[in-house]
Amino acid sequence: MAHGIQIHVQCPHCHMSLMTSHPKVDNLDSIQFLVKIGNRIGHLYLSQIYGSYTKIFENVDDIPDAVVECSCPLCYRPFPVHQACGNCQAAVIGLDLKVGGIIKVCTRNGCKHHSLEFEDSQDALNLFRSQDVSGLF
Ligand SMILES: [Zn+2]
Ligand SMILES: [Zn+2]
Repeated sequence: MAHGIQIHVQCPHCHMSLMTSHPKVDNLDSIQFLVKIGNRIGHLYLSQIYGSYTKIFENVDDIPDAVVECSCPLCYRPFPVHQACGNCQAAVIGLDLKVGGIIKVCTRNGCKHHSLEFEDSQDALNLFRSQDVSGLF
């Protein structure tokens, strides 16, 4: 299977990396969120591959269509809400890309709405230049 673009993200508040080497998702470091689903608090680990929906729930249940409250696991602040999802009306949160720009992700479990946004086109170029080129083919 071809690899997609690899997304490395950091907290928009404390600017600490959200990448973690354990567990691996899609055989790569995953993106760690502190999450609340229903009455339980745990962690969610997302694939760093843009377009992959592989994820691991830890200490929380994988409840279909539940809205997931997502916070930074390091500073505990909720990730900023940018808009309502065009598909499902849940909150869309934004995380900072290490190379610049923002990834926006819908917080409803199972909703596939997400997007990359760049205020500066140089940031987009930086993302593509940061990729392991051999993984793109
Ligand atoms: Zn933080
Ligand atoms: Zn959605």
